[in-house]
Amino acid sequence: DGANVLVSDKGIRGVVIRLIEDFTGISVNDMTIIAGSAARMSKVADIAAECNLSGLEGVGTVPGTVGGAIVMNAGTHRGCIDQAVQDVAVVTESGEKRVLTKDECGFAYRTSRFQTDPSLVITSVTFALRPGDGQAIAEHLESVRQHRARTQPHGKSAGCFFKNPRGQSAGNLIDLAGCKGMRQGGAVVSDKHANFLVNEDNATASDMLRLAERVRKIVAEEHGITLEYEVKLVGEWDH
Ligand SMILES: Cc1cc2nc3c(=O)[nH]c(=O)nc-3n(C[C@H](O)[C@H](O)[C@H](O)COP(=O)(O)OP(=O)(O)OC[C@H]3O[C@@H](n4cnc5c(N)ncnc54)[C@H](O)[C@@H]3O)c2cc1C
Repeated sequence: DGANVLVSDKGIRGVVIRLIEDFTGISVNDMTIIAGSAARMSKVADIAAECNLSGLEGVGTVPGTVGGAIVMNAGTHRGCIDQAVQDVAVVTESGEKRVLTKDECGFAYRTSRFQTDPSLVITSVTFALRPGDGQAIAEHLESVRQHRARTQPHGKSAGCFFKNPRGQSAGNLIDLAGCKGMRQGGAVVSDKHANFLVNEDNATASDMLRLAERVRKIVAEEHGITLEYEVKLVGEWDH
């Protein structure tokens, strides 16, 4: 879906694969759900709730697809996608179909082996879930969605730009460093949530990255912590 990428102004020299239609299927079998990698994560979580299946509450409100969530090991404080993964089906660069076990996926905080091995295309994911109270799960998902609507900016962004350093909130560090409202061209550090850099007025990708670099420098000076990008920079960059 592109919810976590910043594409360079020079574009991408190469082929971009966008999976649609046949890769959006979701099927439930007892306590497992098999979802195509292009299925929306929120839809998979809603179906799990309808089937009284628990395990996707943490990632079920994250924008984007199942494939993107696997690559990013997306989630919230309630848990990340890896906790519910049984296996991941991929196609390799040579066209071979393989099924990777969860252990082979190299999941850790906001990362997975797919970030270091981008030649693997994820086609579907099998989730192993457990019995749960569907109504409570649905209510939880709805309350988190409402919380997001209240606390996150509505403009164009890639969500949190920086990863949280261990035991710290990147947004809080950026806020304390006085970066809220800082601008670069059409890009701005959100007043609502300091870890969101928003494209407010036709910002270029360079505007976004320059703003991110300035924020990173100020946070390092103020707190002695170098923030790491959560957003994936794709395409050709000068630096
Ligand atoms: C408003 C907002 C709120 C957000 N909140 C959160 C949050 O709470 N928690 C969180 O973790 N993230 C959050 N994000 C970031 C983003 O939603 C997640 O990273 C999401 O999982 C990205 O999914 P996507 O489908 O958009 O992936 P993309 O951004 O399109 O792709 C991410 C990476 O995965 C690769 N990729 C995607 N699909 C495949 C595939 N099928 N096979 C191989 N590689 C693939 C891409 O090439 C890219 O490198 C937020 C983003 C926004 C805009």
